Amino acid sequence: MKFWRALRRRCPRCGSRDIWLRWGQLRTRCLGCGYPFEHEEGYWVGAMIVNLGMAEGLFAMVLLGGIALTWPRVAWTHPLIASGC
Ligand SMILES: [Zn+2]
Repeated sequence: MKFWRALRRRCPRCGSRDIWLRWGQLRTRCLGCGYPFEHEEGYWVGAMIVNLGMAEGLFAMVLLGGIALTWPRVAWTHPLIASGC
C-alpha cells in the first residue's frame, strides 16, 4: 500500500497528493495529516559514495588510458602537473 502511494508521489501515511511544492521539493509537513517530511541523518551518504566513486573511476580511467596510449615512453609530466605534485 505504501509502495503504491510512493509510486504515485503521495503522502505515505494518508495518501494526500498535496505534499509537493514543485517537482523534487517536498513540503515540510503533509497538509492532510501533518506528517513531517525530514531527511534522516546520513541521507546524502549514498549519493556522496556514488559521486566519489564515479569521480575516482573517471580519474583512474583517464590516467591509465594515458599511460596505456603512451607506453613505454610515458609522459609523466602531465599527470604530475594534474595531480598537483
Ligand atoms: Zn499525510
